[in-house]
Amino acid sequence: MTTLTIKTTALDNNMRIIKRLANGSQIIAVLKGNAYGLGLIKFASFLHARGIRNFGVTDLADAVTLRQNGITGTILLMTPLYHTEDIETAIEHDITLSITSPACGQIVDETAAYMNHTHVRAHLCIDTGFGRYGFLCSELQQIEETVRQLGHVKITGIFSHFHAAACRNESYVRKQFQSFTSLCDMLQQDGIPVGMRHISSSTSLVKFPFMNLDAVRIGSAFLGRLAVPNDYGFLDVCSLSACVDDIYHLPAGHNIGYGHSFRLSQPSTTAVISAGYYHGLGMERHTDSRTNFLSPIRIYHKIKNTCRKTAPAACFNNCKLPVLGQISMNSVIVDTKDCPLSIGDTVTFPINPIFVNSAVPRVYM
Ligand SMILES: *Cc1c(COP(=O)(O)O)cnc(C)c1O
Repeated sequence: MTTLTIKTTALDNNMRIIKRLANGSQIIAVLKGNAYGLGLIKFASFLHARGIRNFGVTDLADAVTLRQNGITGTILLMTPLYHTEDIETAIEHDITLSITSPACGQIVDETAAYMNHTHVRAHLCIDTGFGRYGFLCSELQQIEETVRQLGHVKITGIFSHFHAAACRNESYVRKQFQSFTSLCDMLQQDGIPVGMRHISSSTSLVKFPFMNLDAVRIGSAFLGRLAVPNDYGFLDVCSLSACVDDIYHLPAGHNIGYGHSFRLSQPSTTAVISAGYYHGLGMERHTDSRTNFLSPIRIYHKIKNTCRKTAPAACFNNCKLPVLGQISMNSVIVDTKDCPLSIGDTVTFPINPIFVNSAVPRVYM
């Protein structure tokens, strides 16, 4: 069977590094996107068993699923809710809500009142420059009015999100941090409690540990997949494991795969592996997203990324088995390179788990 294999020793290694860098700040484990592909429940349970008690999600359904599977502690829904039924569901499951606007604060408070709750927990969400979710820093008055009108909701935290932590130009991060911390200070001076302050996530944890504040929200660092060079000892935690279905000795000139795109240049021993793009193979994003300005450095990176597209290969013991031709939905053909491979053997592919279909079983070992 084709599975996503997750190495718990590598995860433990990454957790140790994260804990050291967090340096006493709390760790909020971000579990969006099926926990970055690691499997929502399995990964949350793994972290819970290791003492993590703060979780962040972007989907109400994920928050509820975590509670239904015995995850205790704080679950912060980092996105706003505006529908009464959703807010009721969140309150019933003791989810910490995010308040992103006056209207959001009002509907959460009204729902809490209707449910006879006096201290539904919520964090204030601040947009310090991402352009997504939250009050602007310039809206001090609206924030204060919103909080003062909360009779049934207790503010237990305040957060924002960096948009350029991986950029070489550090001025954006510094400016966001400065705006965020001075907003927190002003609110506190005006008698508005802000609770736990958090703005940093994986990239800023390693680059700017002095921005940790009271908590750091960590996702990709658990996987050892950072947007900056890995000088910290993070390990890759995942691989896609699949079976050798068949082995063939094919003559030179024989076609391989769809699209008339590949021919053997010499007689080869090939293996058919039961993994394909359905399982996430070859799905990694190689283009960068749409931007509205091009600088020489962006053009350079675009060209480099287009040329670099490293050829995928399977691993077996210490052999690298290059992928031949196009990847199919459920199979891929590799060159055995005279490696002693047999039908039924398991090979592995390096993979970003976010691209692995959530129907593929996650195996922790
Ligand atoms: C995704 C996300 C994180 C985690 O980011 P990583 O870089 O994966 O650590 C933290 N906060 C918010 C709001 C997010 O959306």
